[in-house]
Amino acid sequence: MRITALAGGIGGSRFLRGLLRAVPDAEVTVIGNTADDITLHGLHVSPDLDTVMYTLGDGIEESQGWGRSGETFAVAEELAAYGAEAQWFTLGDRDLATHLLRTQMLGAGYPLSAVTEALCDRWRPGVRLLPMTDDRVETHVVVPADGDGDGPAEKAIHFQEWWVRLHAEVPARRIVLVGADQAVPAPGVLDAISAADVILLPPSNPVVSIGPILAVPDVRDAVKAAAAPVVGLSPIIGGSPVRGMADAALKAIGVPTTAAGVAELFADLLDGWLVDTVDADAVQQIEAAGVRCIAVPLWMTDPDAAAAMSRAALDLAEEVRAR
Ligand code: GDP
Ligand code: CA
Repeated sequence: MRITALAGGIGGSRFLRGLLRAVPDAEVTVIGNTADDITLHGLHVSPDLDTVMYTLGDGIEESQGWGRSGETFAVAEELAAYGAEAQWFTLGDRDLATHLLRTQMLGAGYPLSAVTEALCDRWRPGVRLLPMTDDRVETHVVVPADGDGDGPAEKAIHFQEWWVRLHAEVPARRIVLVGADQAVPAPGVLDAISAADVILLPPSNPVVSIGPILAVPDVRDAVKAAAAPVVGLSPIIGGSPVRGMADAALKAIGVPTTAAGVAELFADLLDGWLVDTVDADAVQQIEAAGVRCIAVPLWMTDPDAAAAMSRAALDLAEEVRAR
């Protein structure tokens, strides 16, 4: 079975780990979000690709869900001693090796897709990991220039600054996916979508993880045109984003922080949608939008729970395929 999944960082990779456990023989292609990418200390950092690579390659710091296990921070301490910015985004020593190599290869002219493949040679994530595009796409967040939000003046900051430095506490007026409308899918992306038996949208942030991938015009068109059923899992449980601050991002695009709100955001692409059992009363509303919906437990408490979720998603895909 060929499965193609779109994925952000933590939510995406925890789900994918369960998927590989549930169907170890499946051929899985992951289309990763690169709109979180940022240049820090001259280095190209791809947080979501790395989270997928480290999680599936057994190199993740499990307690936080991102970064390398067994990490040390000597370089970050030295940089801080120089007063080097940005200190709100700490890069561990082990992690830095990844960014050094990536930056070096990009500088030598390799596209991000080739760099990602080279990095995955070491990590053997068990999936084919493709960046959504080799072009530069960056999520920017428009916030009030005066900080507290009432003046008309506004400024755009990098998504990471809003998320990591400001903890998404400053209200976002708009989210702008800079470069997305010009971006073309990375090599292999469109084939992975058209050749898939099933297309999955894991419980990743709908606005800043899945959103940017689908904002690459040809990616969205390919998912829409795909013969395979498209099944997603709600990243919202009982009106809350489980972990992280996805509610702040949803608010910025005017979508309610509910399992149904996210389903409606993707309704034109979805054949099936899984909500958590606490959201069972939303099933009817979602089915009214033309999306087959069932309620199952969606807490990824451990890899087995994530495996059960992926089995439920694949079962739902089979059901909608038969319709
Ligand atoms: P990021 O790039 O590291 O922020 O990770 P993703 O975008 O892949 O996923 C983050 C989202 O995953 C969060 O906004 C949550 O809504 C969702 N999430 C995290 N843990 C769980 C879980 O256990 N169950 C469900 N259903 N969603 C989760
Ligand atoms: Ca991310």
